[in-house]
Amino acid sequence: MSTYLYIAAAVLFILGIKRLGKVKTARSGNQVAALGMLVALIGVLVEAKVLDWTMASIALGIGTVIGVLLATRVQMTSMPELVAAFNGLGGAASALVAAVELYDKSKESTLASQDTMVATTVPLSILIGTATLSGSAVAYFKLAGKPFPHPFKGALRNLSHVALVLGIVYASYWSATSMGAEADTAMIVLLVLSTIAGVFLVTPIGGADMPVVVALLNSLSGVAAAASGFVIANQMLIVAGALVGASGLILTQIMCKAMNRSLGNVLIGGVGDGAVAADAREYHNIKKTSSEEVAMLLDGATSCVIVPGYGLAVAQAQHTCANLAKELESRGVDVRYAIHPVAGRMPGHMNVLLAEADVPYDKLWEMERINSEFENTDVVVIVGANDVVNPLAREKTGSPIDGMPILDVDKARTVVMIKRSLSPGYAGCRNPLFDHENTLMVFEDAKAALQGMLDELKEM
Ligand code: NDP
Repeated sequence: MSTYLYIAAAVLFILGIKRLGKVKTARSGNQVAALGMLVALIGVLVEAKVLDWTMASIALGIGTVIGVLLATRVQMTSMPELVAAFNGLGGAASALVAAVELYDKSKESTLASQDTMVATTVPLSILIGTATLSGSAVAYFKLAGKPFPHPFKGALRNLSHVALVLGIVYASYWSATSMGAEADTAMIVLLVLSTIAGVFLVTPIGGADMPVVVALLNSLSGVAAAASGFVIANQMLIVAGALVGASGLILTQIMCKAMNRSLGNVLIGGVGDGAVAADAREYHNIKKTSSEEVAMLLDGATSCVIVPGYGLAVAQAQHTCANLAKELESRGVDVRYAIHPVAGRMPGHMNVLLAEADVPYDKLWEMERINSEFENTDVVVIVGANDVVNPLAREKTGSPIDGMPILDVDKARTVVMIKRSLSPGYAGCRNPLFDHENTLMVFEDAKAALQGMLDELKEM
């Protein structure tokens, strides 16, 4: 019976992931995958026979209530931190499964007397699971904008990483080959080193490279689950873990491509400790304007591209933005949205926000497609985006966004930038676009500025 449930769950997972690949079908993809998880859980309960159904239903009920409360109450701006927390908890759960199995088995024997599969996968699961937990905890703080610097700099940092890797290899071998109290000591050493490994993996990475880390941690949580699936010989856990691991790795690659960096370069490069550049607020040619003046500009335009960024999420301006676009369209303006793959603070952040405001999917243009359109665009309205439109990325300056493909908004006839101040974006770099001849700055909260434009247009 459980085998059939596992097959059904695996099929639902694959269908869910396939649907998640397109904006249009992503919502239903999420629901299909969630149904797959429920089927998988029932399969485990049928197979394991450890819990009675009343206890299992109570546990499912509690989990459902927590999930619904989290999903409905979390602020859109806190979603990235929630995703980091989910990754970390996934890793922790896998490490716990391996640890429970280890101590269960060691009642009669030690890891050293287990078959090679268990002796290898228990340390692996504990290592990856714990590193995912501590790495995600650091990512949580970094995504919330809190600095978390690496304790070492330069060559000392690289040396500490090499020492850590050697220590982990040795502790894994030690834990798998020692007996009794010595095996316990080895496991504690492995646990401590794995925790440090997660912290050291994420602390040097920051700024614009954070999307890569978030995707990688997601992938690692899947690998840890697959490893613990081998520990307890549960095919479902292996399949689910492998799917998360593989899809997370694909997302990591997509994010690396979006940054024009290799994964090795992101992990070893240590670009962007979160420091703000010294010249980040030095500008000499700022042209300030108001919502009213922008409304007049838009009234005379035939084409407009809206570039949403993290500030749109902060201001919760997606509905106002969609209303402004509708008003412009009713006046014959061709309106499109330009979506950068790393805009916001989590993969797909802008798509989620704009879907919430019922913006039609065909209005969302990806970077590769829209970039050639900017030179024929009358007005670009940048709503709380900064790094993803920063022309500094095209220059070789050694900045944290060096080489990152950007939206070429500076090629448009007029650029309107809505933000509250001259503060830099997440990567902490100066943005020469602020000083650009064609750029007009609206220093206001995005929602208030867009509402001002909309009100003014309606009065015209
Ligand atoms: P940025 O972080 O570069 O810039 C956001 C801008 O929004 C800021 O300059 C800020 O300026 C402005 N802002 C904030 N609140 C408001 C508001 N209420 N109203 C108006 N403006 C506001 O965002 P981008 O989307 O351009 O770039 C994303 C960055 O985050 C990239 O560096 C990316 O690598 C990184 N990142 C992305 C992740 C992902 O998965 N997508 C994950 C982690 C990091 P001001 O304060 O002056 O208003």
